[in-house]
Amino acid sequence: MSGAAGRLHAARGYAARGWHVFVLGRTKRPVANCPRCAAAGPDHDPHACPCLTCHGFYAATIDPDRIAAMLTAHPDGLLAIRTGAVSGLAVVDIDPRHGGRLDRTLMTPTAAVATPGGGWHLYYTHPGRPLPAKLPGRDGIDIKTDGGLVVAPPSTPAGAPRGYRWTVPARPVGEMAPRLLQACRTRPGPAVPASTVTPTPRPARRQGGGAISHPDALLAATLAAVDHAPKGRRRVTLYGAARGLARMVAADALTAPDAVAALTATGERNGQTPRDIRGAIKGGFEAEGMPT
Ligand SMILES: [Zn+2]
Ligand SMILES: [Zn+2]
Repeated sequence: MSGAAGRLHAARGYAARGWHVFVLGRTKRPVANCPRCAAAGPDHDPHACPCLTCHGFYAATIDPDRIAAMLTAHPDGLLAIRTGAVSGLAVVDIDPRHGGRLDRTLMTPTAAVATPGGGWHLYYTHPGRPLPAKLPGRDGIDIKTDGGLVVAPPSTPAGAPRGYRWTVPARPVGEMAPRLLQACRTRPGPAVPASTVTPTPRPARRQGGGAISHPDALLAATLAAVDHAPKGRRRVTLYGAARGLARMVAADALTAPDAVAALTATGERNGQTPRDIRGAIKGGFEAEGMPT
């Protein structure tokens, strides 16, 4: 399978794993925005924009039909994956041209891509907390996480001697080793274990990796406020919680499905009707400019 057919096949496989896919131009630059979006002001919300490929990684999707349409619209485009909690991925990007070296004491075996520049993309499950854009104290090692992207196989950028390719044999996507997480820590933030703060019954699990948790005291506090609200105030408090979680989704601290699941579970626990729960979530998300 070659060219466009190969990219479509790969993209569908990525999307099936929950990895959000989009296309870049052949030089790794974003595809140009349409004239309407290019002229839009700061009020234009890239999250809510319906365009197929505008706004770089905001266009990333797991919808197979949209993916096929993107690749049809840009048959020479490079396949890219939006990293971060949205896809459940944090990718360690080792670039030997800038001094990056594989450190096996930190970087335990996981799914890996060989890059055209002779480096590596090590795919790990997102640890559920913010990571720095660079591994502190190491040259040539970036971390592609929330707000980031990676070019994905089988893509060959213009002028590159070879394309991005998965290493053989293929490995499952692993979790970051505690030592790697420790090395990432520039400004220590409290990592609260999900089991103690997250009232949602089951963390999302992704193929090839462990549980993706969203260990976030803010999430727990927001939902607890609904639990503790007086009976007559619970509906409006759920709406407020929906707005709070919509902002967390916008910040890539939480995925939209997880936010909806957490809000639904909280509303049900407090005896709210399915109709009221849906209304609170929809209203809260729309008030924050987020699609539901
Ligand atoms: Zn557009
Ligand atoms: Zn737009």
